[in-house]
Amino acid sequence: MSYIPMSITPADLAPAVDVCPHCKAPLHHHRFPAAGVILVTYHCPRHGDVVPMRSAISNPFYHLESIL
Ligand SMILES: [Zn+2]
Repeated sequence: MSYIPMSITPADLAPAVDVCPHCKAPLHHHRFPAAGVILVTYHCPRHGDVVPMRSAISNPFYHLESIL
C-alpha cells in the first residue's frame, strides 16, 4: 500500500485561537483566583463578556468595520 506523506498538516497552517462567536474578533481574557480556583473570563470590545469559540478564522480588523 502506498500513500503520499504530508509534511505540513492543516493544523500547522491555521492555528486555532479564542475568538468572539459574533464578530470573530480576538478576545481579551482575564484570569483571577476565587475560592481556590482560577476563573477565566473573555471580553470582546464590541460585544462585552462572551463565551469564546475556538476558530482558525479571526477578524483582527473588527475595529475598522464601523469606520468603513
Ligand atoms: Zn464580538
